[in-house]
Amino acid sequence: MSKRFTVMVIPEAGEKVRRLQIHSRASAFAVACCLLFVGLFAFLLYSRLNLEFDQAELERLRVENSQQRLVLQRLAVDFDSLHEQMIMLADNEARVRQLASFEDSSQTVPVAIGGIPAVDRVSAVDEIQQRISQLQLAIDMRRQSQEDVRNLLNDQVSLSRATPKGWPTKGWITSYFGMRQIPQGTGKRMHKGIDIAANTGTPIFATADGIVARVEYSAGYGKTVILDHGYGYRTLFGHNSKNLVKSGQRIRRGDKIAEVGNTGRSTGPHVHYEVQLNSIPIDPRHTL
Ligand SMILES: [Zn+2]
Repeated sequence: MSKRFTVMVIPEAGEKVRRLQIHSRASAFAVACCLLFVGLFAFLLYSRLNLEFDQAELERLRVENSQQRLVLQRLAVDFDSLHEQMIMLADNEARVRQLASFEDSSQTVPVAIGGIPAVDRVSAVDEIQQRISQLQLAIDMRRQSQEDVRNLLNDQVSLSRATPKGWPTKGWITSYFGMRQIPQGTGKRMHKGIDIAANTGTPIFATADGIVARVEYSAGYGKTVILDHGYGYRTLFGHNSKNLVKSGQRIRRGDKIAEVGNTGRSTGPHVHYEVQLNSIPIDPRHTL
């Protein structure tokens, strides 16, 4: 025998109380229907809310996407400008290398880093990042390359300043470099420099930057100044009437270092001017 429930409906006043008898199966069915209905309602509500949220998110992403596209386009333009600047830099460097007579194709650094990536593609960001990395690498290589050129130019400038050049005094050559007849007697002897005749007291100038190696008096050259210019170069000025520098003093090309004289074994006022390269005398006429 199935269970039954009795539902009593009691009105407010006077009327008859109604009784409703419900079978337990029917009540279970009703409860199930109610639950189903509530569940369905909750699901629909959830779906609706979810949809609204998705649409808002979609809109936000759309705005973000269009902003990112703008940023990407600007990046591409910036990249283009950087690329052009790199080409200009490379051009300038090539010219400097040519001027410095340093052109060596094996040492030139390539600038090619590809063109501008297409901003429409999904992979544009990756491409731009990759290009930027390549550009960074190219810049680093270019920097190193320019450092080399700078060092080389510095070396060249130093070498140029250290290389004897020009006349040490105003005068005229009375004796040349090379083997010459010994005045008193027979045979020949090496003349290691040139003799430039000038009046006593005429200034003698350094012909290159350097340091005063020695200031001395010798029987042969009389009052003498010897300058060391580095890079293997030395110059000697002999027979001076007066030496005006001290040993160890730094000297620039054109500095007055002594005055023409007739000291030592000399037959008239003149400068015995000698240029040595790695301790071997060379013809100073090639440096005048
Ligand atoms: Zn001489």
